[in-house]
Amino acid sequence: MKIGITGGGIAGLTTAIALKRIGIHAVVYEAAPTIKAVGAGIGLAANAMKGFQKLGIDHAIMQEGRLLDALVIKDERGRQITKTDTLASSQKYGADNFTIHRARLHQVLMSYLDDADVHTNKRLLHFERSGSKVQLHFADGSQEWVDYLIAADGIHSPVRQQLLPTATTRYAGYTCWRAVIDYPADHLREASETWGPMGRFGVVPLKDNKLYWYACVKARENDIRYKNFKVDDLLQTFGSYHPPIPEVLQNTRTEQLIWNDIADLAPLPQYAFDTILLIGDAAHATTPNMGQGACQAIEDAVILADVIQRAPTLPDAFREFERLRMARTQYIVKQSRLIGVVAQLQNKLIGGLRNRLMRALPASAQQKQLDKVLGVEF
Ligand SMILES: Cc1cc2nc3c(=O)[nH]c(=O)nc-3n(C[C@H](O)[C@H](O)[C@H](O)COP(=O)(O)OP(=O)(O)OC[C@H]3O[C@@H](n4cnc5c(N)ncnc54)[C@H](O)[C@@H]3O)c2cc1C
Repeated sequence: MKIGITGGGIAGLTTAIALKRIGIHAVVYEAAPTIKAVGAGIGLAANAMKGFQKLGIDHAIMQEGRLLDALVIKDERGRQITKTDTLASSQKYGADNFTIHRARLHQVLMSYLDDADVHTNKRLLHFERSGSKVQLHFADGSQEWVDYLIAADGIHSPVRQQLLPTATTRYAGYTCWRAVIDYPADHLREASETWGPMGRFGVVPLKDNKLYWYACVKARENDIRYKNFKVDDLLQTFGSYHPPIPEVLQNTRTEQLIWNDIADLAPLPQYAFDTILLIGDAAHATTPNMGQGACQAIEDAVILADVIQRAPTLPDAFREFERLRMARTQYIVKQSRLIGVVAQLQNKLIGGLRNRLMRALPASAQQKQLDKVLGVEF
């Protein structure tokens, strides 16, 4: 039995590890010439860490990550809107919340796989089904036959485009810059996100005096003006926000900026297609507002390995995976999109009203949502 996984991102690599753990060898086909992370930092919430626990790799991740005490939402003057105590997570959800540099996360994941498990420079163009097998056609002219295909090839998945040509990605209405910088962040105990009239600014401490920040502003899709934004432009935009935001920007070089428009995937009607399965962003790409995209990809990997162990055949396991995963992942996509609309309100008056309403929200409302997202059982 040969299983191919297209895409060597968080979903693809974690799935290869999860399958290896149950004695199934899968080959990962990655488009890039080397396995490296695209992006800056990432939050691994308790549900993701619990998934890594199940795979027995949580300690390695924790060593490279940074434990988070709390997540605070502030207004542009630095006044607290809401605070989530993430340190209490371990008791409640069985794991803590960490932040990690994406490159380090990829290194840890790769350390659990053999080089022979991951083939780089293999950009899938399209596939063909022939009998019970699937033939993969790559951009370098090569082909591979597999019995089963797990598509973990991201939001623009070519496998999904072939299976569901009418599926659409949706621009969220805001654009985002990110960077990881050297910064005395070891004393920072909390991650924060600031909501203000110029947009949103997130500050996330990482390990070893590194800091990950992101900034989102409302924009037209693919606006060339923003594509060419430099750190000075961001300083003009966010320079009046509370400390340490201006200082964080002053410590960033323009060449460190990663820019992209934020989009998600409209809910799909199907993840399982007999011998082919969509997972991760290929199946349920979400906006980053809940910090759950990768966390859900990690849940996917753990649950897929679990159903494969229990189901009589792989197509049965893929259908069971779809049954178990569709409602939860699409709930995250929907909630995250909604949070983005609220967080990105840039009108001063409406924003002020939102902040007052948020402060008045009973803690139980926030808790309910946290329980639903983080309180996963594998
Ligand atoms: C600004 C921002 C912040 C985020 N913050 C968080 C966070 O804090 N926490 C969190 O959980 N999530 C976060 N996310 C979401 C997270 O990044 C994604 O959900 C996650 O990376 C999805 O993993 P994936 O492996 O499914 O897809 P990807 O990471 O997109 O990986 C897909 C892989 O497939 C490869 N590929 C693409 N096309 C082909 C092809 N044709 N053939 C072969 N290989 C191919 C790509 O090169 C890539 O390696 C954030 C996203 C954004 C945009």
